[in-house]
Amino acid sequence: MDTRLIELLVCPVCKGPLQRSDDHHSLICHADRLAFPIRDGIPVMLESEAVSLDAPPQGAGPAPAPAELPAAD
Ligand SMILES: [Zn+2]
Repeated sequence: MDTRLIELLVCPVCKGPLQRSDDHHSLICHADRLAFPIRDGIPVMLESEAVSLDAPPQGAGPAPAPAELPAAD
């Protein structure tokens, strides 16, 4: 057995090829834009565990418009 086993893994969603991330901590499906985590050297091939590459960063959304309060006389 060798580490090339990981290259045989395919995306559980589209059955396409996966690519190791630069930090080797996840496997990327470019077709689905999903990153599957690798935990303790074992790829977690569950769609529910995958992280979307398109997920917006936390707090990056547009600021909510301030509520207009009626002026109290
Ligand atoms: Zn896929």
